[in-house]
Amino acid sequence: MAELTEEQKERVRVSKRKYKKTERGKQIAKIEKQKESYKKGRKTYNKMYHENNTEKFKNYKQKESYKEKQREYDLKYRYKKRILESNTVVKRKFICLSYYSPSDTPTCSVPGCGVSDIDMLCIDHIIDNGADERRSIGRSNLYRYLIGEHFPAGYQTLCANHNLKKEIERRRVLSAGKWGEKPPGG
Ligand SMILES: [Zn+2]
Repeated sequence: MAELTEEQKERVRVSKRKYKKTERGKQIAKIEKQKESYKKGRKTYNKMYHENNTEKFKNYKQKESYKEKQREYDLKYRYKKRILESNTVVKRKFICLSYYSPSDTPTCSVPGCGVSDIDMLCIDHIIDNGADERRSIGRSNLYRYLIGEHFPAGYQTLCANHNLKKEIERRRVLSAGKWGEKPPGG
């Protein structure tokens, strides 16, 4: 695996910075900050409490009210955890889409298209061996794979429409080849 060049590192840095400025990026940064300070305070407090009240704590844990509280907390925390987990995927997607865009924000690579909504963009394999690749990497791991392999060449960012158009054209060429050998009805 080759090392990232300075230029590539800078592009990743720029896209990470831009991600932080999106609405979602801001929301996530806030949750992460809260979590961090909560953890810090809780750790010190818990340690003190345990040392001073070992017996009391043991009895308290057996109580139904404690268990109920614990369940509530778990639910609340699980929701935040889910946001943080899905954030990793969105962040990876944002970085990959930016990298394979003509500019350093996620944009469709077709000149004049200008679609820049990341929900409408995807990574396209320039030479059509996407199907073979998906089989070996798995669709969901594509972004992780691209980052891990330090952004291999041969990919581009396309919007959903241009991706569909590319597929239609590919099939048209394929079927032209098929009918070329044996015309329908002839
Ligand atoms: Zn497009």
